[in-house]
Amino acid sequence: MRIRLPPAVFRNITSHTHTYAHLSAFSFPKQKRFLNTHSQNTQFAITPQSARKMSTASSAPSTAMNSTATSSADATAASSQSDLALPQSSPYVPRYIDIGINLTDRQFHGEYHGKQVHQSDLDDIVQRGRLGGVEKLMLTGSCLKESKAALEIAQNYPGYMYTTVGVHPCSAKDLTNHRAGHAAYIDSLRTLALSSPLVAAFGEIGLDYDRLYHASVEEQKLAFTMQLDLAGELGLPLFLHSRAAAEDFEAILFPRLPRLKGGLVHSFTGSMDEMKRIVGAGLYVGVNGCSLKTEENLAVMKEIPLDRLMIETDGPWCEIRPTHASSKYLKDAPALPKAVKKERFVAGTNQLIKGRNEPVCISQVAYVIANVKGISIEEVCEAAWKNTVDVFGLGVKTAE
Ligand SMILES: [Zn+2]
Repeated sequence: MRIRLPPAVFRNITSHTHTYAHLSAFSFPKQKRFLNTHSQNTQFAITPQSARKMSTASSAPSTAMNSTATSSADATAASSQSDLALPQSSPYVPRYIDIGINLTDRQFHGEYHGKQVHQSDLDDIVQRGRLGGVEKLMLTGSCLKESKAALEIAQNYPGYMYTTVGVHPCSAKDLTNHRAGHAAYIDSLRTLALSSPLVAAFGEIGLDYDRLYHASVEEQKLAFTMQLDLAGELGLPLFLHSRAAAEDFEAILFPRLPRLKGGLVHSFTGSMDEMKRIVGAGLYVGVNGCSLKTEENLAVMKEIPLDRLMIETDGPWCEIRPTHASSKYLKDAPALPKAVKKERFVAGTNQLIKGRNEPVCISQVAYVIANVKGISIEEVCEAAWKNTVDVFGLGVKTAE
C-alpha cells in the first residue's frame, strides 16, 4: 500500500523529522522497522513520533487540513485530487517502555570485565532506542550505590528515564552487613527514594536462590522483608525479582500485599503455576529474552493475561539468541542494526555490540509475544504500555 498524503499533512510529518536530523548516521537496515507488515511500502521517511502525528491527522482529517492549510487554493487542490486522499487506516507504529534496563552497567560505558574496550556509547544507545519506538525507560537500581548512579543518569534525560531504588537479592549483604547497621542503610534508601520524582518504583528486590554464593537465604530474606516494609511506607510500587525461590518469595510477599502498592515480577522464568499465582495475587509479569528461552517458557508466556503483561530487555543481559525457542517467532520482527564484536566497535556508526542487549532490541520481545499469542503487535504494545503506566506512571498523563 502506497500512502499519499495532502501537502498540509506531509508538512506536519517533515517538520517533526528534523528532531532526528543529527542522527543521520543512525539509519536502520530497513525503513520498515517502524511499520507493521501491511504497510512496508510506505514511501516517505517516518519516525515513530511523526507517524503518530499522521495517525492523529487521519483520525480527524478535517481538523488537520483546516488548521494547517495556508490558503483556500491549497485546500481546494488537495481535496480535488482523489489520489491525495488520506489513508483509510494508518499503520500502527509500535511504542515501547523498557521497564527493566541496567544502564549503570559498565558495558554501556564501554567497559567489560574491568577493561575499557571502547568509549561510552550511552547517548547513542538511548537515541537508537528512541528511533526504534522506545518512548520511556525505567532504570534498575540494584543497591544504594547503583540506585544513586541510575538516578544520576536519569536526571540527564528528564521525562524519558525513571528509576527504581532498592537492593537486589544478590547484593543483600550490602544491607544486612552494612558497617553502620541495617537501619542506617534503610535510612539512606529512604532518603534517596524521596529525593526525586524520577524514582518510580522500589526495587529490584526479592529472592534469588540460584546465586546463593552472593548472599545466603537468611540474608536475602532479611533484606527482602525490610525493603518491603520500606516500600509500603513510601507508597512505591514494587519491581521484584524471584528466581528458584517461589515458595519463600510468595510466603514473604503475599501476606504483605494489602499494605503495598502492587507491582511487577520482572524477568519472569517460572512455571505456569507460579505465573498464575502471581497474577492471582494482583501482580504483573515482566517478560524479556530470558523469559522466552524454552518451549516451556513460551507456553507459560502465552497464558499471561494481556492485562498483566509488561515487557523489558533487562539489558545488557537477556538478549534473544538464535538458539532460543523464541527465535523462530522473529520472522516479521524489525531488523536491528548490525552487531559487531566489542573490539571492533566504531563509535558513531550505529553498531550494536554482540552479546550486549539494549533498549532498541525490545521490539524482538514484543514480536515473539505477538506471534506466540497469535495477536497483533499493536495489542501487545498497547497492553504493555497501559499496564506500565497504570502501575509506574512514568510521567504519562492518565488521560492518554
Ligand atoms: Zn532481576
